[in-house]
Amino acid sequence: MTPRLRLQPEAVGVGMTSQRVRDRLVQRLREAGIADENVLNAIRTVPRHLFVDEALATRAYEDTALPIGHGQTISQPWVVARMTEALLQGAPRKVLEIGTGSGYQAAVLAALGLEVYTVERIGDLLRQARKRFRHLGMNVRSKHDDGRVGWPEHAPYDAIIVTAAAPALVEALVGQLAEGGSLIAPVGGASAQSLVKLTRRGDGGIDEATLAPVVFVPLLSGTLD
Ligand code: SAH
Repeated sequence: MTPRLRLQPEAVGVGMTSQRVRDRLVQRLREAGIADENVLNAIRTVPRHLFVDEALATRAYEDTALPIGHGQTISQPWVVARMTEALLQGAPRKVLEIGTGSGYQAAVLAALGLEVYTVERIGDLLRQARKRFRHLGMNVRSKHDDGRVGWPEHAPYDAIIVTAAAPALVEALVGQLAEGGSLIAPVGGASAQSLVKLTRRGDGGIDEATLAPVVFVPLLSGTLD
């Protein structure tokens, strides 16, 4: 797939967050096994420093998760890259993310030219993420809701990505997958999970694969303002 990067260049800051610093992160991801050039290119292009508090901007291109408030985190770039790589394997067009958080993962998906829907349960985080999408000229559709019910109005999705951990895959989300579509989600307990990829085959069967050990914040019920 050819990435269609839709960022407005003037919206992308430079300086301590220079291209060299970003290239170093991309090099590190390459060394850590990320091979999809479209994914690496999207990570190079999306200004991660705009998705964290200014005080943390100097650390934005380290391969580490960072706090975004409300006890939540922006995922580690390697995890974002790995999930995105897994998602692109099915050549999706329309994708749903559960757990908008900072909006970074959604922005990476949008930079790849995908039609992105994202759901977040914490209103304050969603408002900040929406500002970032607007600032970057990104067309990401978002909703304030408990994402465990998915977003049925726009289903089916070619891929669904869950960026918060649950003890098991969420049935309602599996039901919103298109034929041939994949659900990628961290499954396990509070302290550690496995990244699981479930694919809904054309013949009605289900394939499941475990991709990597990961650590995510928990998928919680209900919404907060
Ligand atoms: N994808 C995010 C990572 C955010 S961390 C990023 O790129 O920054 C996980 C996010 O999932 C948190 O913001 C948390 O509030 C949200 N979350 C947890 N349970 C949820 C649920 N049931 N529905 C929607 N969002 C949820």
